[in-house]
Amino acid sequence: NPINVLLICGGGSSEHDVSLRTADFIQQELGKSAEFQLTRVTMDADGRFIDADGQLRELRSDKLLYNAGGSAQPVDYVIPAIHGYPGETGDLQSQLEILGLPYYGCGPEASKNCFNKVTTKLWLTALGIDNTPYKFLCAETAEEFAKAQDALSQWGSVFVKASNQGSSVGCYQVSTPEALNEALKDAFKLSPYVLVEKCLNVRELEVAAYEYHGELVVTPPGEVRAPSDTFYSYDEKYAEDSRAETFVEAEGLSEGQLDWIREASRRAFVGLQLKDLSRIDFFLTDEGEIYLNEVNTFPGMTSISMFPKMLKNQGHDFSEYLGTLIHNAVKLT
Ligand code: ADP
Ligand code: MG
Ligand code: MG
Repeated sequence: NPINVLLICGGGSSEHDVSLRTADFIQQELGKSAEFQLTRVTMDADGRFIDADGQLRELRSDKLLYNAGGSAQPVDYVIPAIHGYPGETGDLQSQLEILGLPYYGCGPEASKNCFNKVTTKLWLTALGIDNTPYKFLCAETAEEFAKAQDALSQWGSVFVKASNQGSSVGCYQVSTPEALNEALKDAFKLSPYVLVEKCLNVRELEVAAYEYHGELVVTPPGEVRAPSDTFYSYDEKYAEDSRAETFVEAEGLSEGQLDWIREASRRAFVGLQLKDLSRIDFFLTDEGEIYLNEVNTFPGMTSISMFPKMLKNQGHDFSEYLGTLIHNAVKLT
């Protein structure tokens, strides 16, 4: 019997379109095997599932996917291929837990902890993993803004980040008090907490950490290089004419640096209780310090994305990797 897989993409965040491209990739990879019967739905801004024919679908507690006519098909496994709300934030996963359906990726709590940039920092510090110097603002008040201005005068240039966004949305580099105020206001429109980080001159390293045949694999770091006049912004990540360069393996790192990154990735994966996949991003400063920047529980999987490239470079076939996870999860239920 085929295994019925429900692929959910889209969602209500600024990363809706990126999610569709990730879903294209997953669909293409799973399509290589006849044992998976795939149904794809796109979640609209109201949280409704729309299928390929534009019809409304509904996943109910009997683990059946209904159409408007009232007929239904079984669902054995779910792939929540959504960046940002409500996938990468863990909300959809909570719902799947309640339904008792196995799914690809991290659980609700790990997702929440990693998606919230403030919470991530608290966790990393608790796990003893170095991360970028920061202050966080938990309210849009004059007092909190003053804290940010202090940080700016101390550090010269800062990154302002909305706590609950990805793909560089709500992320601003500022070097003047006026620009800082504007950025804070914009960030607070997107999230209830805001992070102010010291701006560092860095190389950006990215590791894929994932479970392959029951073992945790941590790849050597790849590298992304934004053009020198900007940071790794939304456009540089996804636009057709992106000038960012990616390298599946970063060059010139010492054994000690590679060890440090591998060990920190492992500790983050285990400590934050990640599952199945993650892309863990690091900063390497000019002084040779390494900081863990963020943990992405559902990294992009577009044709130019690092996660699938790093798996491939590791000699791991994506369709086999995902197929094995599905088999194991379905067997357990
Ligand atoms: P996102 O979850 O949106 O990817 P990041 O924290 O990774 O958020 O920030 C996006 C990008 O902004 C990074 O890839 C990097 O180019 C730049 N950046 C973020 N924080 C810093 C920092 N403290 N110093 C220098 N560059 C930074
Ligand atoms: Mg992110
Ligand atoms: Mg990032």
